[in-house]
Amino acid sequence: MYSVSMTKKALIIGGGIAGPVTAMALRKAGIESVVYEAYGRTSDGVGAFLTLAVNGLEALRQLDLHDLVCDLGMDTPGMRMSNGKGKQLVNFPMYGRTIDRSDLYVALRDEAVRRGIQIEYGKRLVNAAGGTASFEDGTSATGDFIVGADGLRSRVRSLIDPNAPKARHIGLLNTGGYARGVHLPGKPGEANFIFGKRCFFGYFIHPGGDVWWFANPPSKKEPTTAELASVDWRARLHTLLDGDVGPMHRIIDATEKVIPGWNTYDFPTVPKWHNDTMVIVGDAAHATSPSSGQGASMAIEDAIVLAKCLRDIGGTPKAFAAFEKARRERVERIVAHGKRSGDGKAPGPVGALFRDLMMPIFLRQMEKKNSLGWMYEYRVDWNAVAS
Ligand SMILES: Cc1cc2nc3c(=O)[nH]c(=O)nc-3n(C[C@H](O)[C@H](O)[C@H](O)COP(=O)(O)OP(=O)(O)OC[C@H]3O[C@@H](n4cnc5c(N)ncnc54)[C@H](O)[C@@H]3O)c2cc1C
Repeated sequence: MYSVSMTKKALIIGGGIAGPVTAMALRKAGIESVVYEAYGRTSDGVGAFLTLAVNGLEALRQLDLHDLVCDLGMDTPGMRMSNGKGKQLVNFPMYGRTIDRSDLYVALRDEAVRRGIQIEYGKRLVNAAGGTASFEDGTSATGDFIVGADGLRSRVRSLIDPNAPKARHIGLLNTGGYARGVHLPGKPGEANFIFGKRCFFGYFIHPGGDVWWFANPPSKKEPTTAELASVDWRARLHTLLDGDVGPMHRIIDATEKVIPGWNTYDFPTVPKWHNDTMVIVGDAAHATSPSSGQGASMAIEDAIVLAKCLRDIGGTPKAFAAFEKARRERVERIVAHGKRSGDGKAPGPVGALFRDLMMPIFLRQMEKKNSLGWMYEYRVDWNAVAS
């Protein structure tokens, strides 16, 4: 059986998903921590929503957090895909929960605090060495080790490895919103995905009646912040989706505020995840295309596996190495899968023809062979000893 030491203290940088979940997992392993978040309690800089896949939900169960998220958002019991001509390509069951991103952040942060974990806001990490973290406001903190749960633009990653690769722009933009008063047929919560001729569009009918939606306009080039800000996104989407069959135009028109578009990125591989006193988890180590639907779930799995390694393996550097060994292959496989899925959203006319012909066959084969079982059926087990 594992031994528990109450002597160690972790500094966790980032209070998104990985940060609070890591803090709760470490606490369960007998390690105290403080979470340092750059922004305020209710702001995370990115709007919209995400779907937690079944593996992520099951990972939350290991920390008794499953019920917490089951009060948020909506169950997503299946996925229906069609093309821009209105032809249904596939319709298959899946299990996930679609949650407003900021609701999820706030719920996890509040639960961490309820469990006695200290979260400090307005603390942007600028530097770190030997277990001491320095923040933009001139303060600093010292612990036994630092966990970088600071997302895509991780500062901890660049402190571990100044030559760490830059995030890869994946050729898709993101925008979306919440539509009111538009009545659509369909199962509540189900994911409806439309491969439009020029733009991918997804929507979910909330049981309360609102429609949650997103769109992925393709963009080979990475637009600058100024270029993104100059776009009239409502008009752009109407143009991109012109001629496609589906309720997209009605949904966009019933949306008071279309969230301005932003770039999306991934990391095929981040060579260094840790040094002797710092380690990265979640998007900091392996941001994936949102098309994988796995970023949040991987962050939660990471948190638990890292805590288990620190609980069971003597010596922090060895525990970090064991964490990386346990996680790297799986997460890089998911990042590659996410990139392929994203590429299918913007294939060009010939690619679209091929996709529409092959996708139903391909997905039926996948379902029959359970080819994505490796992703969804993976389970972290708190009680299994890490090695
Ligand atoms: C549009 C979109 C759709 C998505 N859809 C899905 C989906 O359907 N399913 C899914 O599983 N995932 C999805 N994801 C991915 C998912 O949101 C991320 O993978 C997940 O949030 C990663 O959690 P994290 O804690 O590692 O990073 P984040 O959630 O990004 O949290 C990082 C935190 O660190 C803080 N921070 C950053 N720098 C510093 C610093 N220097 N000092 C202190 N704090 C700092 C940030 O403010 C932030 O709060 C989506 C992402 C996007 C953008």
